[in-house]
Amino acid sequence: MAVSGSVRHLNVLYRGPLSSCNYACPYCPFAKRTESAEEHAHDERALTRFLAWVDAQAFDVSVLFTPWGEALVRARYQRALVHLSHLPHVRQVAIQTNLSGRLDWARDADRAKVGLWATYHPGEVDEARFLARCAELDALGVRYSVGVVGKRSHFPAIEALRAALPAHVYLWVNAFKTGGGYTPEEVAWLSGIDPLFEVNTRRYPTRGAACTAGESAISVEGDGTVRRCHFVSRPLGNLYDGPVEALLKPRPCSRASCECHIGYVHVPHLNAAGVYGDGLLARIPEGPEWAAPEAYLARAQLLLRGGGGRP
Ligand code: SF4
Ligand code: SF4
Repeated sequence: MAVSGSVRHLNVLYRGPLSSCNYACPYCPFAKRTESAEEHAHDERALTRFLAWVDAQAFDVSVLFTPWGEALVRARYQRALVHLSHLPHVRQVAIQTNLSGRLDWARDADRAKVGLWATYHPGEVDEARFLARCAELDALGVRYSVGVVGKRSHFPAIEALRAALPAHVYLWVNAFKTGGGYTPEEVAWLSGIDPLFEVNTRRYPTRGAACTAGESAISVEGDGTVRRCHFVSRPLGNLYDGPVEALLKPRPCSRASCECHIGYVHVPHLNAAGVYGDGLLARIPEGPEWAAPEAYLARAQLLLRGGGGRP
């Protein structure tokens, strides 16, 4: 575990100013949003500064790019993944993507360190085209997870995708939390698709619970603003103002609830690494518990009931 002044490994979730996307998902504020050349240049400057920061660190770093919109269609993000993957002190580099962009950049990367969090958007891309992209990743030897938002209108596409994807590819389903909830039958069916689905259906009452976000994981914006996670708005400081170690310490969660995978996986009570291992940031379950994730589901159930993780 990281402690102030003696960081050994830090997970960094980076979200730069980029906020555009080539897709038009109806539930997304970035759908078909375009940016000017100056806005792209601004994003590139921020990314370059962040990469220089990673280069300079003496401790191990893992990076997950969580852009507003689609970043992997941009050459600068492709180059960033390649660059980071070759740094000896970078353990893993991952990015959330709709998988619409070219993938040949991966040939130049240390693919053992790269993971893609690929989301399938029915209606924006046909299944055959998306599967061809997955096959390309398999041929390149790039690890990836595939996911779908669990809207009821997506159920047929989810079923077809699971049937068509190679068995080794994990298909996650994100609970559509504004959709009025799921029936027990729907939860059972979706759990047959994604054995970890139930964990994502809940809002965990995390206020006061231990969470390593802000200790061994941080969220960073393009201007260097550091937060413990994407969901607690109060900044801890700025990445570029001094050693980040000064910002890191154990803190209980201040939010009433935590409901996103990129948040609750940092609650130590869950021991998400047991299921995900090195695939944690790209949501690829590679840990020893993945073969039988019942213990992870049980820990999540305990967290839901307000147990586990309280100091
Ligand atoms: S692909 Fe992602 S970023 Fe783009 S419109 Fe859809 S949900 Fe939004
Ligand atoms: S429990 Fe979730 S909301 Fe709370 S600090 Fe951790 S990641 Fe952030």
